[in-house]
Amino acid sequence: MSKPKLGVFKFASCDGCQLSLLSAEDQLLELAGAVEIGYFLEATSKIAPGPYDIALVEGSITTPHDVERIQQVRRDCKFLITIGACATAGGIQALRNWADCDEFVQAVYASPQFISTLATSTAIADHVSVDFELRGCPINQYQLIEVIGSLLAGRRPRTRVHSVCLECKRRGTVCVMVAQGTACLGPVTQAGCNAICPSFNRGCYGCHGPAAQPNLVSITNQFASDGVPKEQIVRSLRSFNGYAPEFRVEGDRLDASQESGE
Ligand code: SF4
Ligand code: SF4
Repeated sequence: MSKPKLGVFKFASCDGCQLSLLSAEDQLLELAGAVEIGYFLEATSKIAPGPYDIALVEGSITTPHDVERIQQVRRDCKFLITIGACATAGGIQALRNWADCDEFVQAVYASPQFISTLATSTAIADHVSVDFELRGCPINQYQLIEVIGSLLAGRRPRTRVHSVCLECKRRGTVCVMVAQGTACLGPVTQAGCNAICPSFNRGCYGCHGPAAQPNLVSITNQFASDGVPKEQIVRSLRSFNGYAPEFRVEGDRLDASQESGE
């Protein structure tokens, strides 16, 4: 029986999520034996043509060419899984969505006339249908192995959608927000990192993106009553996952209320 063919595709990103797959040393050989790697330029220049059974897609859509290419990837694959904050929420490059992209291009490039870019950076799901989204900046390698393994086994991936707070409780970390009044996005951020930051005595800054049904208004009210300036709260929401709808809506609401002096 032929092995399922895997393709790993990159759009605008830092490659960190693809590296998470390569860093999964213990499972990598087993995985390489279970699938045929058809396209994975980070790992090999050997390319097998599509169609692919599973496509892992890293990165956001930032150019007209990206739009065409992701549509081709979608046509070429059976299951399309987006990995990381760039692919699931537009990534840090989505900060340009609140600014004038042309200004950035003029400031950064010596010959801006050669740059062809979109005014926005958006998630893959804004352009094509996606079968599963794995959040994180970068993703957690064990969650990625679980997602690929579940597809190979024909079952639904078991990844965590609850908040980072639950991981703090499980590992016995004292809550930095309750004990020290430190602003922490853990209550609204998806688990998967084993609450690394609070365990080192700092607040979560939301790199794993929004948890299921997060209450953003409640947490930003709490930050405000703890004395965090509104501008700082907006900045904390507009980071790796700032363009994820949940963080975006609350960041925009606070920003607008700040401008209107409310
Ligand atoms: S430290 Fe942050 S993530 Fe941990 S329990 Fe407190 S609020 Fe939640
Ligand atoms: S920022 Fe939050 S989600 Fe990211 S590693 Fe730290 S605790 Fe985990």
